[in-house]
Amino acid sequence: MRPVYLDNNAATAADPEVVAAMLPYFDERFGNASSAHDFGATSRRAVKKARDKTRALIGAAYDEEIVFASGGTEADNAAILGALDSRQGRDEIVVSAIEHPAILALASHLERTRRAKVHVIPVDRQGRLDRERYRAALTPKVVLVSIMWANNETGVLFPVEELAEEAKAVGALFHTDAVQAVARLPIALKETAIDMLSLSAHKLHGPKGVGALYVRRGAPFRPLILGGGQERGRRGGTENTPAIVGLGKAAEIAIQRLRGDAARMRALRDRLEATLTARIANAFVVGGSERRLPNTSAIVCEGAEADAIVALLARAGVAASAGAACAAGSLAPSHVLRAMGLPAAVAAGATRFSLSRDNDDDDIDRAIETMPPIVERLRRASRALDAAGAPRIAEPAYA
Ligand code: PLP
Repeated sequence: MRPVYLDNNAATAADPEVVAAMLPYFDERFGNASSAHDFGATSRRAVKKARDKTRALIGAAYDEEIVFASGGTEADNAAILGALDSRQGRDEIVVSAIEHPAILALASHLERTRRAKVHVIPVDRQGRLDRERYRAALTPKVVLVSIMWANNETGVLFPVEELAEEAKAVGALFHTDAVQAVARLPIALKETAIDMLSLSAHKLHGPKGVGALYVRRGAPFRPLILGGGQERGRRGGTENTPAIVGLGKAAEIAIQRLRGDAARMRALRDRLEATLTARIANAFVVGGSERRLPNTSAIVCEGAEADAIVALLARAGVAASAGAACAAGSLAPSHVLRAMGLPAAVAAGATRFSLSRDNDDDDIDRAIETMPPIVERLRRASRALDAAGAPRIAEPAYA
């Protein structure tokens, strides 16, 4: 049977047009984009076109605001480190408790090494940011706020445009990790107070290992990687022309398709959620009442562990995930579910289905047919263990 792929927040398939656009830049158009001859000029033109498409996808005003990087993780690190020492007398940063590890690991490193004081703003059970705590943290000591546009595990959106206005009012820079939001939501950066934004090509049907950081014209920024002055001195290293061309093509396609694809994904996702929560008792959608990405659904089935559900789904040919790909398999409860304070979700985990424009009704039918019997089987096994008085593995300790 054809495998069903519903793990697009981990990676999307590169569009065939993207692959075709990239291929010539490995051989016949191999020139270094910094070279003075025609080989260089060909690559330079390709990088310029990709920059323009990437700019257009996020509604930025100027091409020079796009800095190509190796992906979302580098863009996130570059944003924070690039802003950190940029304003005298300011050494505090503000993040949410449910940021991606690309932000949280760096923030805790900066805190440990005493380079910055970090305010971690909590969320509630629906994944909404605690706005009072956010406002209280915003003082003239804050150099940078980094709050994600959409959470990768739940799809819940933060109101980043409003949060950026509030940060601006105290003179802090505002960065958003929009790795999951770009190409799934319309974005018009030039109409916002957002200073920096991270994106990653492999979440939008482009290649892995390439992404971009948007840096608003005039915003203070120091390069993370020093080198030969590429990217106007903001990111050293020979441009990865094939990958950048791939990102540009993926952006170009996304601009044309975004609205239609989002509506189609939302309809499929809503049917998946409605049917599964009707057929499976004591199942709920994390952040179900909130504004969310159109493609993401995190479903908790009380008394059935998401890791086991995902393993059995995989055996039945349905690829989903239990939280983020980088945390999956670690056995530690998701920091996102923990921060949301959902005891049932922390104990069982959430099964994440994430769709792309490649999914269709048949894929959703397969997930709908496959998941309820799996949950029932796991719950039966768990009840049998309880009845036999089998000892349970202790919950991992966490604060
Ligand atoms: N930020 C978010 C919200 C993500 O979901 C991911 C990847 O899953 C990243 C950052 C990291 O991006 P990359 O894999 O391009 O380094």
